[in-house]
Amino acid sequence: SLNTERHEYDVVVIGAGGAGLRAAIEARQQGKRTAIVCKSLFGKAHTVMAEGGAAAAMGNVNSADNWMVHFRDTMRGGKFLNNWRMAELHAKEAPDRVWELEAWGALFDRTKDGKISQRNFGGHEYPRLAHVGDRTGLELIRTLQQRVVALQQEDYENHGDYEAYIKVFAECTVTRLLKDGDRISGAFGYWRESGNFILFDAPAVVLATGGIGKSYVVTSNSWEYTGDGHALALLAGAKLINMEFIQFHPTGMVWPPSVRGILVTESVRGDGGVLRNSEGKRFMFDYIPEVFKDKYATTEEEADRWYTDQANNRRPPELLPRDEVARAINAEVKAGRGSPQGGVFLDVSTRLPAEEIKKRLPSMHHQFKELADVDITAEPMQVGPTCHYIMGGVEVDADTGAAAVPGLFAAGEVSGGMHGSNRLGGNSLSDLLVFGRRAGAGAAAYVDGLPARPKIAPEQVDEAHAEAVAPLGRNGENPYEVHHELQRTMNDLVGIIRKAEEVSEALQVVEKIKERVRVVGAAGSRIYNPGWHLAIDLRNMVLVSECVAKAALLREESRGGHTRDDFPGMNPDWRRKLLVCSTEDGSTIKVEEKVQPPMRDDLITLFDRGELSKYLTDEEMTEFDGIAK
Ligand code: FAD
Repeated sequence: SLNTERHEYDVVVIGAGGAGLRAAIEARQQGKRTAIVCKSLFGKAHTVMAEGGAAAAMGNVNSADNWMVHFRDTMRGGKFLNNWRMAELHAKEAPDRVWELEAWGALFDRTKDGKISQRNFGGHEYPRLAHVGDRTGLELIRTLQQRVVALQQEDYENHGDYEAYIKVFAECTVTRLLKDGDRISGAFGYWRESGNFILFDAPAVVLATGGIGKSYVVTSNSWEYTGDGHALALLAGAKLINMEFIQFHPTGMVWPPSVRGILVTESVRGDGGVLRNSEGKRFMFDYIPEVFKDKYATTEEEADRWYTDQANNRRPPELLPRDEVARAINAEVKAGRGSPQGGVFLDVSTRLPAEEIKKRLPSMHHQFKELADVDITAEPMQVGPTCHYIMGGVEVDADTGAAAVPGLFAAGEVSGGMHGSNRLGGNSLSDLLVFGRRAGAGAAAYVDGLPARPKIAPEQVDEAHAEAVAPLGRNGENPYEVHHELQRTMNDLVGIIRKAEEVSEALQVVEKIKERVRVVGAAGSRIYNPGWHLAIDLRNMVLVSECVAKAALLREESRGGHTRDDFPGMNPDWRRKLLVCSTEDGSTIKVEEKVQPPMRDDLITLFDRGELSKYLTDEEMTEFDGIAK
């Protein structure tokens, strides 16, 4: 109907971060014609910004490490709400995925005896993060892109066309998924530069669009992360889980205001950095929660000894899981013991020699020098919590990444389940590789099994087109103002610490914002028009915000990335339940409770009774006693 360019593929991967690239490589290796679509430049995804490393129990630095220890740490970090099958696959397969990267040309930092080095990170019992200085994500993306190019060269030799089996569509935003009956039939989007529309005719779509941080004012996320994949999935009829769980990274920059929220990697603490309040006190010792009491040092002396002797000492409390550290910082600032600019102090200058800091944390040294005029080898940084990562996302089948809608798959940050209520640092990069590969394979197998290719319905293309152009030339609400109000609302009312009245108030504001988004207007034409792009993205941010707020209101307990002031404890009954978000009318979010399947016997018996009793219901404990006999 419209003069829209049209492309036919077997698999369309939306997103070119680690998850998207790994999925595309897999689909292409299974012989599928694959498109990679990304909103920003090829190579610029969140994955590039990942600093600390990829968690994989290779046991290179401490041979006591193995998949079972990693599995246990992941479940503990997520406060046992994780999809245990995903946590199992992740822990088992991460080492292979890291070795595979090395085979494809990644150059990880080495141990003295030449193995891939591994660093300490919060919540990981042993040094586990394979890394390249503090620029691990860059190396990961570089390697995956190089692999894509290698496959394209192979295709050129065999078919005379570099893009015969794998093609990248960069600076191209997808706005709608299309369906034939209940199955995926393709995707619709626009080129950011020209504003021209594009149609993908494809039976399988893999969502790998990353996070939602741009719904919050203070965030480590960049402009692309407007929850597009989450919203595309909802609108196509799929379900989102765990949306109430958002990770506020404890250490974002707080000063100057223009850089507020930018990440300060956890490696600073992993490599010896400590947190202090305005009184100079290492306050984290006051915030070790009951469930972790036996795993963390209670004195500075023991904590400091741990860096050189992990067998005989417990870890410093600065390396508690992120939710604990973020809440502690929040509490110190609230109690009036914050730094001048409203954070706390993170100091590595008195802990490591200047040369060592520059060698281990080159990006951090550069970032503070350039952005804040602070020399981290000589003075402490000021840091505070920043919206960093969403644990929630598309509900998928653990083994294949398949969503509830046939033909739809999801991997990486846009998917939910793997990290439960809180993700451990370093578990995302490994997640992208493990589940990116699985989703690519899942999509390829799905395409093979299809009796007939689903067809594009022209009316759906017309609707998608009409929806996209609607804001243009409309003399309506200003998208920037609407966006800012949404960000403030989510930040202030559905942030780190939540209470029923505030979240309810947020939901009322979101309702009003929804009305404003319906009449949002963008001046100018379709040619490179950021105001128009934002007007389109707002639909997604509002849908996602409603999921977060509604689920946050329903979950009457505190767990991981969800802290309720009015329900401060963890409640074992809630641990068994997932809150599942969906929409029927494309605008109102419905949230339903769903009981999680119990953990497989051979996995649950990896934990000891004492630990499980902190998380499980009495009924579940009775079952456990039956199994453990
Ligand atoms: P991303 O890498 O976020 O990529 C998303 C892709 O989707 C992009 O290509 C984007 O352009 C595209 N896209 C989005 N919407 C659309 C659309 N509508 N149409 C077309 N394309 C679209 N994790 C770790 O494990 N270790 C770390 O050390 C670490 N450090 C981090 C540091 C920072 C500053 C940040 C922000 C995150 C960090 N994380 C870390 C988290 C981790 O980097 C991310 O969770 C992960 O990279 C997400 O990868 P992804 O492949 O799911 O998506």
